[in-house]
Amino acid sequence: MNRVALFPGSFDPITKGHESIILRAVPLFDKIIIAIGRNAEKSGFFPIEKRKEWLRKVFENYPTIEIIEYEGLTVELCRKLNVRFILRGLRTSADFEFERSIGQMNKKMMPELETLFMLTVPEHTAINSSLVRDIIKNGGDASQFVPDQVVL
Ligand code: ADP
Repeated sequence: MNRVALFPGSFDPITKGHESIILRAVPLFDKIIIAIGRNAEKSGFFPIEKRKEWLRKVFENYPTIEIIEYEGLTVELCRKLNVRFILRGLRTSADFEFERSIGQMNKKMMPELETLFMLTVPEHTAINSSLVRDIIKNGGDASQFVPDQVVL
Protein backbone atom coordinates (compact mmCIF):
# COMPACT_ATOMS: atom_id res chain seq x y z
CA MET A 1 0.00 0.00 0.00
CA ASN A 2 1.19 3.46 -0.84
CA ARG A 3 1.68 5.52 2.28
CA VAL A 4 1.29 9.20 1.55
CA ALA A 5 1.33 11.93 4.19
CA LEU A 6 0.26 15.53 3.89
CA PHE A 7 2.27 18.11 5.84
CA PRO A 8 0.16 21.27 5.79
CA GLY A 9 1.28 24.68 7.03
CA SER A 10 1.99 28.22 6.02
CA PHE A 11 5.80 27.93 5.97
CA ASP A 12 6.09 31.71 6.18
CA PRO A 13 9.04 31.05 6.16
CA ILE A 14 10.13 27.41 6.51
CA THR A 15 12.19 26.96 9.69
CA LYS A 16 14.68 24.39 10.91
CA GLY A 17 11.78 22.98 12.95
CA HIS A 18 9.71 22.15 9.86
CA GLU A 19 12.77 20.87 8.01
CA SER A 20 13.70 18.47 10.77
CA ILE A 21 10.19 17.00 11.17
CA ILE A 22 9.85 16.47 7.42
CA LEU A 23 13.28 14.85 7.07
CA ARG A 24 12.58 12.51 9.99
CA ALA A 25 9.33 11.49 8.30
CA VAL A 26 10.92 10.70 4.92
CA PRO A 27 11.74 7.05 5.78
CA LEU A 28 8.24 6.51 7.17
CA PHE A 29 6.24 7.36 4.03
CA ASP A 30 6.36 6.54 0.32
CA LYS A 31 5.56 10.16 -0.36
CA ILE A 32 5.21 13.38 1.65
CA ILE A 33 3.19 16.23 0.19
CA ILE A 34 4.09 19.58 1.71
CA ALA A 35 1.00 21.74 1.27
CA ILE A 36 1.35 25.50 1.61
CA GLY A 37 -1.99 26.86 2.81
CA ARG A 38 -3.17 29.97 1.02
CA ASN A 39 -5.43 32.17 3.08
CA ALA A 40 -7.93 34.27 1.12
CA GLU A 41 -8.01 36.90 3.90
CA LYS A 42 -4.27 37.16 4.71
CA SER A 43 -1.56 37.25 2.10
CA GLY A 44 1.16 36.39 4.61
CA PHE A 45 4.61 37.94 5.00
CA PHE A 46 6.59 36.23 2.25
CA PRO A 47 4.89 35.70 -1.12
CA ILE A 48 3.71 32.12 -1.72
CA GLU A 49 6.09 31.80 -4.69
CA LYS A 50 9.07 32.64 -2.47
CA ARG A 51 7.95 30.15 0.22
CA LYS A 52 7.56 27.48 -2.44
CA GLU A 53 10.96 28.25 -3.95
CA TRP A 54 12.61 27.86 -0.52
CA LEU A 55 10.80 24.56 0.12
CA ARG A 56 11.87 23.29 -3.31
CA LYS A 57 15.50 24.19 -2.61
CA VAL A 58 15.54 22.67 0.87
CA PHE A 59 14.10 19.34 -0.34
CA GLU A 60 15.52 19.21 -3.87
CA ASN A 61 17.42 16.00 -3.15
CA TYR A 62 14.37 14.17 -1.83
CA PRO A 63 12.40 12.64 -4.71
CA THR A 64 9.58 11.46 -2.42
CA ILE A 65 8.78 15.01 -1.32
CA GLU A 66 6.29 17.03 -3.34
CA ILE A 67 5.36 20.67 -2.78
CA ILE A 68 1.93 22.10 -3.57
CA GLU A 69 -0.25 25.02 -2.52
CA TYR A 70 -3.88 24.89 -1.53
CA GLU A 71 -6.77 26.90 -0.26
CA GLY A 72 -9.73 25.74 1.76
CA LEU A 73 -10.26 22.81 4.07
CA THR A 74 -7.34 20.44 4.61
CA VAL A 75 -9.73 17.46 4.74
CA GLU A 76 -11.07 18.38 1.31
CA LEU A 77 -7.52 18.41 -0.02
CA CYS A 78 -6.90 15.00 1.55
CA ARG A 79 -10.04 13.64 -0.11
CA LYS A 80 -9.08 15.12 -3.45
CA LEU A 81 -5.55 13.68 -3.27
CA ASN A 82 -6.67 10.43 -1.68
CA VAL A 83 -4.39 11.01 1.31
CA ARG A 84 -5.13 9.32 4.65
CA PHE A 85 -2.36 10.72 6.83
CA ILE A 86 -1.71 14.24 8.05
CA LEU A 87 1.65 14.83 9.65
CA ARG A 88 2.14 17.59 12.23
CA GLY A 89 4.95 18.63 14.55
CA LEU A 90 4.44 19.10 18.29
CA ARG A 91 6.58 21.56 20.22
CA THR A 92 4.67 22.32 23.41
CA SER A 93 1.50 21.53 25.29
CA ALA A 94 -0.05 24.60 23.62
CA ASP A 95 0.63 23.00 20.22
CA PHE A 96 -0.97 19.82 21.53
CA GLU A 97 -4.19 21.53 22.63
CA PHE A 98 -4.48 23.37 19.33
CA GLU A 99 -3.68 20.30 17.24
CA ARG A 100 -5.95 18.05 19.26
CA SER A 101 -9.05 20.06 18.37
CA ILE A 102 -8.13 20.29 14.70
CA GLY A 103 -7.21 16.61 14.53
CA GLN A 104 -10.37 15.47 16.26
CA MET A 105 -12.63 17.71 14.17
CA ASN A 106 -10.87 16.61 10.98
CA LYS A 107 -11.45 12.99 11.96
CA LYS A 108 -15.16 13.69 12.47
CA MET A 109 -15.29 15.17 8.99
CA MET A 110 -13.21 12.41 7.42
CA PRO A 111 -13.18 9.26 9.60
CA GLU A 112 -10.57 7.45 7.51
CA LEU A 113 -8.05 10.25 8.12
CA GLU A 114 -5.33 9.80 10.76
CA THR A 115 -3.31 12.75 12.10
CA LEU A 116 0.17 11.69 13.18
CA PHE A 117 2.36 13.80 15.44
CA MET A 118 6.10 13.91 15.77
CA LEU A 119 7.74 15.53 18.78
CA THR A 120 10.18 18.25 17.89
CA VAL A 121 13.79 17.78 18.94
CA PRO A 122 14.50 19.92 22.05
CA GLU A 123 16.76 22.37 20.20
CA HIS A 124 13.91 23.32 17.85
CA THR A 125 11.16 23.71 20.45
CA ALA A 126 11.48 27.49 20.59
CA ILE A 127 11.58 28.06 16.85
CA ASN A 128 8.46 29.36 15.17
CA SER A 129 7.83 31.20 11.92
CA SER A 130 6.10 34.14 13.55
CA LEU A 131 9.14 34.93 15.74
CA VAL A 132 11.38 34.55 12.70
CA ARG A 133 9.18 37.13 10.93
CA ASP A 134 9.40 39.47 13.94
CA ILE A 135 13.20 39.27 13.91
CA ILE A 136 13.24 40.10 10.19
CA LYS A 137 10.73 42.95 10.55
CA ASN A 138 12.97 44.45 13.20
CA GLY A 139 16.13 44.17 11.13
CA GLY A 140 17.64 41.21 13.02
CA ASP A 141 19.46 38.16 11.70
CA ALA A 142 17.21 35.07 11.77
CA SER A 143 19.45 32.86 9.63
CA GLN A 144 20.26 30.41 12.46
CA PHE A 145 16.56 29.48 12.70
CA VAL A 146 15.99 28.63 9.03
CA PRO A 147 17.50 25.93 6.78
CA ASP A 148 20.85 26.79 5.19
CA GLN A 149 19.28 27.04 1.71
CA VAL A 150 16.96 29.86 2.86
CA VAL A 151 18.52 33.26 2.31
CA LEU A 152 16.23 35.78 3.99
P1 ADP B 1 0.68 26.97 11.05
O1 ADP B 1 -0.05 25.72 10.67
O2 ADP B 1 0.34 27.50 12.39
O3 ADP B 1 0.83 28.00 9.99
P2 ADP B 1 3.34 26.30 10.54
O4 ADP B 1 3.11 26.49 9.12
O5 ADP B 1 4.41 27.08 11.17
O6 ADP B 1 2.09 26.46 11.38
O7 ADP B 1 3.63 24.78 10.88
C1 ADP B 1 3.21 23.65 10.20
C2 ADP B 1 3.56 22.44 11.06
O8 ADP B 1 4.92 22.52 11.44
C3 ADP B 1 2.79 22.33 12.36
O9 ADP B 1 2.53 20.98 12.62
C4 ADP B 1 3.73 22.87 13.38
O10 ADP B 1 3.49 22.28 14.66
C5 ADP B 1 5.03 22.37 12.84
N1 ADP B 1 6.14 23.17 13.34
C6 ADP B 1 6.31 24.49 13.27
N2 ADP B 1 7.46 24.86 13.88
C7 ADP B 1 8.03 23.72 14.36
C8 ADP B 1 9.21 23.43 15.13
N3 ADP B 1 10.03 24.39 15.52
N4 ADP B 1 9.47 22.14 15.44
C9 ADP B 1 8.61 21.18 15.05
N5 ADP B 1 7.48 21.38 14.35
C10 ADP B 1 7.18 22.64 14.01
